[in-house]
Amino acid sequence: MLSILRSLVQEVNGARDLQEALDIIVSRVQKAMGTEVCSVYLLDPATNRYILMATEGLYRKAVGQVSLGYSEGLVGLVGSREEPINLEDAPSHPRYRYFPETGEERFRSFLGVPIIHHRRVLGVLVVQQRESSRCFDEGEEAFLVTVSAQLAGVIAHSEATGAISGMSLTGEEARDVSFNGVPGAPGVAIGSGVVVYPAADLDVVPEKPTEDIDGELALFRAAVNAVREDIERVASRLASQLRPEEQALFDVYLRMLGDEALPGEVANRIREGIWAQGALKQVVQQYVRHFERMDDHYLQERAVDVRDLGRRVLSHLQEGEQKHLIYPERTVLVSEELTPAMLGEVPKGQLVGLVSVKGSSNSHVAILARAMGVPTVMGLVDIPVNQLDGKELIVDGFEGQIFASPSSDLRAFYQAICDEEDELIKGLEVLRDKPCETTDGHRVSLLVNTGLMTDVVRSLSHGAEGIGLYRTEVPFMIKDRFPSEQEQREYYREQLEAFAPNPVTMRTLDIGGDKALTYFPIQEENPFLGWRGIRVTLDHPEIFLVQVRAMLKASEGLNNLQIMLPMISNISEVEESLHLIYRVYHEVREEGYDIHMPKVGVMVEVPAAVYQIRELADRVDFLSVGSNDLTQYLLAVDRNNPRVAQLYHSYHPAVLQALVRIAQDAHAVGKPVGICGELAGDPGGALLLMAMGYDSLSMNAASLPKVKSVIRSVGREWAMQLLEDVLLLDSPHVIKSCVDLALRNAGFGRYLRPGKTSSAAFAEQAV
Ligand code: PEP
Ligand code: MG
Repeated sequence: MLSILRSLVQEVNGARDLQEALDIIVSRVQKAMGTEVCSVYLLDPATNRYILMATEGLYRKAVGQVSLGYSEGLVGLVGSREEPINLEDAPSHPRYRYFPETGEERFRSFLGVPIIHHRRVLGVLVVQQRESSRCFDEGEEAFLVTVSAQLAGVIAHSEATGAISGMSLTGEEARDVSFNGVPGAPGVAIGSGVVVYPAADLDVVPEKPTEDIDGELALFRAAVNAVREDIERVASRLASQLRPEEQALFDVYLRMLGDEALPGEVANRIREGIWAQGALKQVVQQYVRHFERMDDHYLQERAVDVRDLGRRVLSHLQEGEQKHLIYPERTVLVSEELTPAMLGEVPKGQLVGLVSVKGSSNSHVAILARAMGVPTVMGLVDIPVNQLDGKELIVDGFEGQIFASPSSDLRAFYQAICDEEDELIKGLEVLRDKPCETTDGHRVSLLVNTGLMTDVVRSLSHGAEGIGLYRTEVPFMIKDRFPSEQEQREYYREQLEAFAPNPVTMRTLDIGGDKALTYFPIQEENPFLGWRGIRVTLDHPEIFLVQVRAMLKASEGLNNLQIMLPMISNISEVEESLHLIYRVYHEVREEGYDIHMPKVGVMVEVPAAVYQIRELADRVDFLSVGSNDLTQYLLAVDRNNPRVAQLYHSYHPAVLQALVRIAQDAHAVGKPVGICGELAGDPGGALLLMAMGYDSLSMNAASLPKVKSVIRSVGREWAMQLLEDVLLLDSPHVIKSCVDLALRNAGFGRYLRPGKTSSAAFAEQAV
């Protein structure tokens, strides 16, 4: 059964469109189950009716004609109950509906299973049989359930493709459909999609038509010739080292590159009007599927060769392509997995939005996007990325959703939100030089989180009082090797100088988990519980010492440096780090630098640290809570996994209780405590943290004016009452609603989400 299922999924994955996918499903399932009828009904979101989309066994002319209301007939019953229904004599069931146009009266036994994707019923898969004596058994039911579960994602994907091209299931014009992910950076952007993809990855090549057929053919032939030459060169270089049978491998490759083989087929597709990369992708995937289906192991292995050849040709086709990419004036960058380098490719001032299939709101790229103030949606797992190239896109970074090819009404609605946001930000400029103080005189320091120099410039213009977290891994991430001490010194000096005499808190390298350096790969089964943060740098003192030395030298004459240690879970890690920092301090002074010993602090981001605040505080000068990781570890929810993003909640009562405890324990031993996780930049979160007594809140520059204006408008007593009230609640959602309500009542509804309620009308459908 597994092999039937595997090949079915492969075939369906390779289908050109939804209709082909559904036709494959009904025909293969009917055959595999030996039944007379297999049909698939999909729920059309536009009409909320189940439409017969494909059938094997019923009259073909009924396809697209027969439809049932949401709770009509047995199909509707399966959909609304969200579970299989297996009947020996369907016509005797009270919910049975008869459609003469299907020829259905001849069939008695019925087995229907829902097709559900991310809790949403997409449709119903049905098998039927003439004889009532042939009741579908448990094994068959289990098979159909498995098929349906596997295919739900593929169907959702194809459906989304239709929505992007503006066509509904019935071929009519689609209404605006939102694709839901996770908010990455707040704000709304309207622009043109530019799909960027890692080089030589066939799977992510977009489908594009071409009008320059001769040009594409010439490009393709040149790429094939280049690969042929590469292979001949490698073969002759290795001739003396390989046995003849091993050398034959290269002949296989060269034969596959012969004109009658793969290149011939690709050329035919180019002549049909598909661009060379897309044609290559289609043919290679078809060959791969063909070989993988073979029973013979040797032939199965050829799939690997074809894929490899495809990649080689593609990389020649793509040579220099990224450089020639034309970025429209309002570029929305779209990728399977956005990288900081991709952001850097877009000319200054042209990047308005970001969309990433992988990652979540706390992925590094989202953090960078927030720093740059670029509205971003992450974790759009089911979006057909390639279809977004060149499409007009609306990126709603407040709600974590995007719209493709929007209607003029929707565009106007979002344009109004953009204008409103601009106005709001301008209105807040007057607060720049005002202190962050409640109406009853309680003062909180507002700091910024930085990584790039862009952040620093924005932060200064937003009135930040210093840097609460400089993520030193960011400059490390945009290089292709460890930066030298001198290079680091220059990066650090820029940050220190920009804020002097205000404090700049530099965190020692925090890699591992989701923060990868291409030149220092860490392969682990469970990276968030593995080698990250201080664990890596204490194991590599050469990295730690160089970094601290660069920081200390950079601080000469400024003396506003503070050093912060990430991912502390043991007191011994703090002691070892302090020992190394003192050592460097004395060495650097001996070298003649006139520096002061910086304040040293630890991040509280691992639950163990929450219970050792006093012991930690005794050894350092300050504490700073990393609420992003603390939330992830307290709730056991991967901060980058969009599937569980709904469970990642910094307003969870357990997180709030931990935050209260940290502030109390730190103050009990007289040490200042701040917070540098994203919660600090959330106006509601900032209110609660201020009420808890946090001395400083460090956030992305874009959030700072809003947080300041909220804190300046309320009394501490009022915020403490709100905190007391929410600490009695047990649900993160209820807590969030309570805080939102308080903000609304205080006149800050606009900070929550401009126009949220009215946008819901456009955004009922989640993929
Ligand atoms: C945190 O974990 O809250 C934090 C500020 O660090 P990072 O997001 O860089 O892991
Ligand atoms: Mg962290």
